[in-house]
Amino acid sequence: MKIGNTDTDLLPCPFCGGEAYLERNHRAFVQGQSTKVTFVRCRRCNARTARFELARFGRSSHSAEAERLAKEAWNRRIK
Ligand SMILES: [Zn+2]
Repeated sequence: MKIGNTDTDLLPCPFCGGEAYLERNHRAFVQGQSTKVTFVRCRRCNARTARFELARFGRSSHSAEAERLAKEAWNRRIK
């Protein structure tokens, strides 16, 4: 398995077969709080995974951990 910051390890969209990409450090409002989230989204139909809040993870590696979880969530949806 490839480790890194490329998006090439993302599987195609389970709904339309479109290309998926990682949305990193995206500003969003969660429960009324402005925060940053990372998730995977389809370029074609906008299907996406749950948003992973960076603040939930350890200070040093929160970004990489959120990316890893978002990719896992996306890839798990494909049989
Ligand atoms: Zn799609």
